[in-house]
Amino acid sequence: MGFADSGVARGGQAAPDLLVAGAGVAGLWLAVKAARAGLSVLLVDPLNPGSGASGGFLGALMPHSPERWNGKKAFQFQSLVDLEDEVARLESETGAFCAYRRVGRLLPLSTERGRAAAIEQSTEARANWGGRYRFDVNHAPDRSGWPDMLRAPHGVVHETLSARLSPPGLLGALLSSLAVMPGVELRLGVAVVDIATAEHTVRLSDGSTVSYGHLALANGVDAFALIARTAGLQALSLGDGVKGQAALLDAGASPDLPLVYDDGVYVIVHENGHVAVGSTSENEFDDPVSTDAQLDEIVKRARKLCPVIKHAPEIRRWAGVRPRAIGRDPMLGPVPGAAGVLAMTGGFKISFGIAHRMADCLVAGLTGTEGPEIPLSFSVEHHVARAAGKPANG
Ligand SMILES: Cc1cc2nc3c(=O)[nH]c(=O)nc-3n(C[C@H](O)[C@H](O)[C@H](O)COP(=O)(O)OP(=O)(O)OC[C@H]3O[C@@H](n4cnc5c(N)ncnc54)[C@H](O)[C@@H]3O)c2cc1C
Repeated sequence: MGFADSGVARGGQAAPDLLVAGAGVAGLWLAVKAARAGLSVLLVDPLNPGSGASGGFLGALMPHSPERWNGKKAFQFQSLVDLEDEVARLESETGAFCAYRRVGRLLPLSTERGRAAAIEQSTEARANWGGRYRFDVNHAPDRSGWPDMLRAPHGVVHETLSARLSPPGLLGALLSSLAVMPGVELRLGVAVVDIATAEHTVRLSDGSTVSYGHLALANGVDAFALIARTAGLQALSLGDGVKGQAALLDAGASPDLPLVYDDGVYVIVHENGHVAVGSTSENEFDDPVSTDAQLDEIVKRARKLCPVIKHAPEIRRWAGVRPRAIGRDPMLGPVPGAAGVLAMTGGFKISFGIAHRMADCLVAGLTGTEGPEIPLSFSVEHHVARAAGKPANG
């Protein structure tokens, strides 16, 4: 079923069917999927693609925990299952390399209580993930290839759904795909500044006015204020940014090794043996792109967790600001009171695993074709209700 009032006819002859604001992982996937569906696309960004939160190097694709199953978890699960084929298609179309691998994940268990909870989760995983992916609670000696891992006195969870990819590899592949598709224009150095919903036009930061059939706001953390303003709800805060810092180590580690996750610390071996370590979660910060002692602490914990990286030299540090919607879940779908305007943001810590499916939802709505359902808790209305302090609907 299509989105009400497509407005495409109002766009005028030169108007793209879809104007996308933001060339991060969300906007790039949306542009690719829309172009594949035959829509003309204009993608604008004031900076280079991947200059926002998508410009990091972690690339962890980890499922939510399998208990208390809900629409969000089901959406993410299917996204993670499908991404392997999505990446394979993108690679075969473009010749690009995304360094995707479903390596699984280890979660060291440091308490008996944690182990008991993990055993319950393994039952839930069997029920909710089906038979293809495992969630096993092992005794300490099974570390699935990691030569050494400290602090796992109560064993290790080994799940086989998690994967990783190279964020710059994926963004490069999406850009390569867009470069050869007809009806796609990428305009860098300009931001969407103002939206005139009645006219179906936007004013860009270079002073020009552009018409659109539909407009998708995929501009990361900056989307929340724009969405609120466009919906006439400028008094509401629909989301915020959570800063994260990460480091890259030159460890020469085996690319087969599963991800390791322990209490906020991620360790991810990439295809070239580099190991990405993250991340801080900072609600308050002055400088969105600086790194500091909080990252030192994360790296220290990671080295302790995985002695194989104990002495690996750091080769890069990076920080970015993740978009987190007020209702915590991603924000996806029509913006109320603004015909033709769509939201696609709020992927917070999981955007790389779900952006392709978020794009499928919007493209299905745009083309009036079958596509995945948008969970109720992703809808802009749901987030607006949360921001207004009203009970949410999903
Ligand atoms: C340290 C760290 C580690 C992370 N690790 C992972 C991970 O392992 N796995 C995972 O899935 N996710 C991870 N994330 C989260 C993930 O990176 C983000 O959720 C994701 O990048 C958000 O993508 P986006 O496209 O929504 O936003 P962004 O990537 O922020 O893109 C928004 C774009 O919009 C542009 N823009 C801004 N304003 C305008 C405007 N007015 N008009 C047009 N364009 C505009 C910006 O220039 C930017 O290019 C991590 C984040 C951080 C910070």
